[in-house]
Amino acid sequence: MDIADLNDQALTRDSLYGTQAETTYAGITSFMRRRYSRDLRGVDLVVSGVPFDTATTNRPGARFGPRGIRAASAGIAWERHWPWAFDPFEHLAVIDYGDCAFDHGTPQSVPESIETHARRILDAGCAMLTLGGDHFISYPLLKAHHRRHGPLALIHFDAHSDTWPDEEGQRIDHGTMFWHAAREGLVDPARSVQIGLRTTNDDHQGFQVLDARQVHRLGCEAIAAAIRERVGDHPVYLTFDIDCLDPAFAPGTGTPVCGGLSTTQALEILGSLRGINLVGMDLVEVAPAYDHAEITSLAGATLAMEMLCLYAARHKVDV
Ligand code: MN
Ligand code: MN
Repeated sequence: MDIADLNDQALTRDSLYGTQAETTYAGITSFMRRRYSRDLRGVDLVVSGVPFDTATTNRPGARFGPRGIRAASAGIAWERHWPWAFDPFEHLAVIDYGDCAFDHGTPQSVPESIETHARRILDAGCAMLTLGGDHFISYPLLKAHHRRHGPLALIHFDAHSDTWPDEEGQRIDHGTMFWHAAREGLVDPARSVQIGLRTTNDDHQGFQVLDARQVHRLGCEAIAAAIRERVGDHPVYLTFDIDCLDPAFAPGTGTPVCGGLSTTQALEILGSLRGINLVGMDLVEVAPAYDHAEITSLAGATLAMEMLCLYAARHKVDV
């Protein structure tokens, strides 16, 4: 190969499939060096960003999450994702669609913009891996996925329940959207589970809670078994709030809480969920301005890859 063709696979790759080494520190940082495209023909899975963060209750900055995760992914895109025995990019046609556009000056219009973005992708028959943005974005994403798949089992990694009540109406708030999702039937709480919680909420709306202490005491294998039991073979939406990780492992986030999971624990649990009927996923709340040495962005990129492997394992790989 000509040395001139070694960089910028986001522009130059001629197949949507495969993994090819590229200079880790250079070039256009699409997610995992996938092609930047809006052409959905022949695409299995779309990675896109939703750089929205005005629903945060504490520190804003997750609007830079998609950019941070993409940049960190360049450092791990040169090889097959460890420790999986297959390369998901050999089996799935994946593009980086860029970011959802919305008008930050009219916040009440943003949920609709995100839902329309998701519908366009889902209606073309593609699955989505979405990079946040604060956690509110999961609400319009769930609406779009519910329209396609019906009530979903939710696997929710977080320090927070995000089921705090909003009796007054439709707050654009990253702590209330799963209260609405449960009440509107977008998710089925009886098939749903929240992992890593360590904040107080007296009413969990019927979700099963495996809090951070349970993860530390019971171990990853037992937690993964409990999750699998809860969701069964039901269509699953997986949402990962990076603040599920302890601030030692994910300082770059808006509402950090001590006592959380290590990156290793999160990867162990996710890796043990192989076989679940995953239909959609997001990774949210990475806020690079509070990060150190890209710890959080790299964790975000790595966890997103683990989710992508889980999706491939269920839908494309016959092993
Ligand atoms: Mn959250
Ligand atoms: Mn959280």
